[in-house]
Amino acid sequence: MRYSVGMDCIFCKIIAGTIPSQKVYEDEQVYAFADIDPRAPVHILIVTKKHISSLLEAGEADTGLLGHIQATAVKLAREKGLAQGFRTVINTGADGGQTVSHLHLHLLGGRQMHWPPG
Ligand code: 5GP
Ligand code: ZN
Repeated sequence: MRYSVGMDCIFCKIIAGTIPSQKVYEDEQVYAFADIDPRAPVHILIVTKKHISSLLEAGEADTGLLGHIQATAVKLAREKGLAQGFRTVINTGADGGQTVSHLHLHLLGGRQMHWPPG
């Protein structure tokens, strides 16, 4: 399933508050909230406030932002008590399984994560 982009972007609406979400964290660059269809006891989405449709669209100027979403995942993992470990995932494009065209990182934890993911 593929969601619409641009002004109709579901994650832009979540950031703006026009679609409700279970907020976990927010700063100037990112917004983090619980995934509506959790695949693990902890499943948080960390989205960039700037609309970037995927990693393929992230430019040189976004390098710091990419680091920041990973660092935010570590911070939230610590806060959620994921001392045994966790997984961070960014799905990109159709083959990557991306369904929402707004850059986001999945933080998954609270159970044994399997590899390969399939
Ligand atoms: P992707 O498949 O693009 O990597 O991840 C999109 C994620 O967004 C999925 O895990 C899906 O469950 C989640 N999602 C889609 N729509 C909503 C929504 O309206 N609210 C929340 N909280 N999560 C959503
Ligand atoms: Zn968006």
